Amino acid sequence: MFEAGVADRATPALAFLAEQGRYRRAVSTFPSLTPVCLSALVTGAHPDVHEIPHLVWWHRGEQRIVEYGSSFGAVRAAGTRRSLQDTIYELNASHLGAGAVTVYEALEDAGLTTAAVNITCYRGRTPHRPTVPMLTRPAHGPKRFFFYNLFESDVTGAPLSVWNRPGGTIDAYAGAVGRWLVTRDGFDFLVFYLSDYDYASHAQGPDAAHEALARCDAAVGSLIAAAGGEEEFLERYSVVLCADHGQTPVSEVARLQDRVDGLVTASNRAGMAYLDGDPRPAAERLDGAPGVDVVLFREGEEAVARRDGEELRLSRGPGGLETSGDRSILGEPDGLARAWAAIRNPNAGELVVSAAAGWEFADLGGRHHSGGGSHGSLLAGDSEVPMLTVGLDADLASITDVMPAALAHFGVALPAYARPPVRP
Ligand SMILES: [Zn+2]
Repeated sequence: MFEAGVADRATPALAFLAEQGRYRRAVSTFPSLTPVCLSALVTGAHPDVHEIPHLVWWHRGEQRIVEYGSSFGAVRAAGTRRSLQDTIYELNASHLGAGAVTVYEALEDAGLTTAAVNITCYRGRTPHRPTVPMLTRPAHGPKRFFFYNLFESDVTGAPLSVWNRPGGTIDAYAGAVGRWLVTRDGFDFLVFYLSDYDYASHAQGPDAAHEALARCDAAVGSLIAAAGGEEEFLERYSVVLCADHGQTPVSEVARLQDRVDGLVTASNRAGMAYLDGDPRPAAERLDGAPGVDVVLFREGEEAVARRDGEELRLSRGPGGLETSGDRSILGEPDGLARAWAAIRNPNAGELVVSAAAGWEFADLGGRHHSGGGSHGSLLAGDSEVPMLTVGLDADLASITDVMPAALAHFGVALPAYARPPVRP
């Protein structure tokens, strides 16, 4: 959709940026689901470090399900109040790994001002009081922090974002806040997150959300205008423009819950199972199951990727990941590293399941996007994202490369886990 929009100039602001910069397709993380991906973007790490495993997962420490909003039905099943608390607060306050560093923490510790608009991974050093009476606790975010009207570090006059995703009101709010910030040049580093496109693409399918894409383009264009025009915008800012994951069409639904003895947390195109004892028999029972592509589990210090009875074993060697078996099982972009990181996440289930093309796993409320678009698997369509950089001296092959590139751009030291930026 991005490439087509740029090629026929249906998205003039994106086309302008593409002319000024460097474009490539990059790879997301796995599961390729929003909370996992946004945490990867913001921390420069895969889930073995940032520890957010899925949209829905079992919290072993608190013996309960965490559900970040797969669907209204799933949220109701997990407990609406609990679910809102997890999404608004706990993802950042307690679930995001203590060993991970966010881009806001790293840049602000170096004396810079960072800003975030509507992104669900926002952990920072500054406490912000909520703007609505139903919330009472402060959230710790970047200095300039705007989160769906619930937290606003500054009075911007942006319209109250009534929750009407089909109408694009969430992005309209983001756009108004973004213009306010750019007009004042009120940041050194800004994360500007437009979430309505994903919603539209789920509903209409991955090749059809033209109207939502046009609204994204208009929002980006309004930032350029707020800087005083194209030249002024590029003089002032470097830009990374990307998605956190892709989408593919889905037409079939499987219930992983019916195939595994254990607690299943599934949503979109990835599932997990929390089991007592050896995970191998449960993995073997999924051989040939409808909708199941690859099943990951751990055996000692090794990880096993299994597809229809064939196996690939992964282990950490002195020179990186070593494998034995059928490498085509994890042949998708960056498949080895992404699978390894997903199953090494301490919050992941004993099984992590990647869905086959065209399939979705029903969530806790039995909901799915059949007939529309979805994502979450290891497959390329879910995992490839557009990656455009303007004025940045780095080749970003993965969404985990964005945070280190931002730090390097400002001359700030990277966390030990982060991969140093590669020169183009
Ligand atoms: Zn989505």
